[in-house]
Amino acid sequence: MVATAPIARPGILDIEAYVPGESKVPGGIKPAKLSSNETPLGPSPKAVEAYRAAACELERYPDGQATLLRNAIARRYGLDPGRIVCGAGSDELLGLLARGYLGPGDEAIYTTHGFLVYRIAILTNGATPVVAPESDLRTDVAAILSRVTPRTRVVFIANPNNPTGTYIPIDEVRRLRAGLRDDILLVLDAAYAEYVGRNDYEAGLELVATTPNTVMTRTFSKIYGLAGLRIGWAYCPPGVADVLNRIRGPFNLSAPAIASGAAAIEDVAHMERARRHNDEWRPWVERELDKLGLTVTESVANFVLFHFDGTEGNADDADSYLKSQGVILRKVGAYGLPNALRMTIGSENDNKRAIAALAQYLKGAA
Ligand code: PMP
Repeated sequence: MVATAPIARPGILDIEAYVPGESKVPGGIKPAKLSSNETPLGPSPKAVEAYRAAACELERYPDGQATLLRNAIARRYGLDPGRIVCGAGSDELLGLLARGYLGPGDEAIYTTHGFLVYRIAILTNGATPVVAPESDLRTDVAAILSRVTPRTRVVFIANPNNPTGTYIPIDEVRRLRAGLRDDILLVLDAAYAEYVGRNDYEAGLELVATTPNTVMTRTFSKIYGLAGLRIGWAYCPPGVADVLNRIRGPFNLSAPAIASGAAAIEDVAHMERARRHNDEWRPWVERELDKLGLTVTESVANFVLFHFDGTEGNADDADSYLKSQGVILRKVGAYGLPNALRMTIGSENDNKRAIAALAQYLKGAA
């Protein structure tokens, strides 16, 4: 039989397209949008200024090496700029890593409630996703190691993970690395690293510097408030940087993104304000959710996962009610958490609106 329409490669139609956090509510009220882990402080004013200045030269191609941005990141963290590869969001880098290292017959591991872009990236390249269970909604190193087979090529972990908000200490990450074969690439997705205030946490810079098979990805979408510009970066062993540089688009970051990202990372004071805001309001949100009788998963990031088990109401109804009140949280059924919601830590006003609406919902559900 001759096909009557183009046929996608094997695996592609197994992909469930990523559903972004919602941003609109009916009725035209200005929503409290707490669905995509964006910062309520917005970007550094210096980043906005750099963006505007870049508008004067839009007829020019950007610097294909994103030199200004890579140098700014390297200075900030004391890194070798030659090992930094930038992408249009860390999503692009995760996809490029999969494209560079995975193909049909290969397996890649991620965890039960791991960030869904990994699954999409694995299937896109015809490889087989292998899901390792978590324990207490945390990455479980032993479970990952037990899922390794001779076909395993890549392991993806988000540390801290989205949507759980949990993390594993750097000692655990080192144990994971030590237990994996040398030809297995370990991808440490540290999108929320800047928010973590724990002594035993490290994003993985040292591990990347000292092993030939570990990559760390970071983003400007969260604490730097530049989600709309799409900027991410990876710190890589030289061999991995070389692979990514061969396969990425030659101008994968726009000129405004390069200029704005470089200004953002230099504005350390702005980033610290965003962290302080989170340090103040995440515990407040956690306490208020707890007072409402909801089970809260302890978070180290800028969002909180809470569960309706053992309380009145359920996640779907709560989400609909909240939306009717102009409050948008994130449903996480696609992450295997059908009776939980994820709430981004927002402005004081938005946090209070969300908690008040939830209290109202639970009163009605009782
Ligand atoms: N990793 C994790 C764990 C995330 O939560 C996100 C954002 N949802 C990303 C990566 C991708 O972020 P971006 O592409 O905006 O850099």
